Amino acid sequence: MAEKSLIEWTDATWNPWHGCIKVSPGCKHCYMYRGKLRYGKDPRIVSRSRTTFYDPLGWNKPRHIFACSWSDWFIEEADQWRDEAWEVIRSTPHHTYQILTKRPDRVIPNLPHDWNGGWQNVWLGVSIETQNYLFRKEILRSISSMTRFISAEPLLGPIDLQSLDGIHWVITGGESGPGARPMNLDWVRSIRDQCLKHGVAFFHKQHGGTKMTDGTWGGRLLDNQQWNAMPQTSSILE
Ligand code: SF4
Repeated sequence: MAEKSLIEWTDATWNPWHGCIKVSPGCKHCYMYRGKLRYGKDPRIVSRSRTTFYDPLGWNKPRHIFACSWSDWFIEEADQWRDEAWEVIRSTPHHTYQILTKRPDRVIPNLPHDWNGGWQNVWLGVSIETQNYLFRKEILRSISSMTRFISAEPLLGPIDLQSLDGIHWVITGGESGPGARPMNLDWVRSIRDQCLKHGVAFFHKQHGGTKMTDGTWGGRLLDNQQWNAMPQTSSILE
């Protein structure tokens, strides 16, 4: 049985390895760091999981699976295990894998040899927390993939996403937990409106903060409604 993830936009998380090195301001309050430090572990040591590496093989019901919620799929320290993890994905076409990275420059050299235009069951995404990291979107758009997405979480400032050609899905969310940096809902409204204008699926996960409201950090109603769109279409960027 897969454990239901508390992350609203996925069904389950899968961590073939864990541990990571911080790369940008969005990492400042990384929940993996908090979790590891609580147990006296060094979060910067990247280790292969002894117990969960093959978990998706045992999940018969199709799921959206967020891969590497406690690391980064493309982190250099995991190069030795990634081929084996791609094999797990290849063997489970009934699942949809959501692979989100802050290291988009490492994607192309680390795709499987038969990636071609992308695998149907893999969505590739980048995190963009402020306008300064919009370059990650441009790298993503240059990579062949059936589905591409942006996670603007924790959203730390207003972002003009500019062209959304080749982008199928955008997620927003405010930071949560101790020291959470505040998010202005107008930043979210602006991203929502950019998505609506360009026909891109938009998902708002949470407002963030330190209080739970209706089951999420800070609540998630924006202008009296939830924004839960998922990508419906896939296309190969010409
Ligand atoms: S890339 Fe992700 S997992 Fe790695 S330190 Fe940053 S927030 Fe944490």
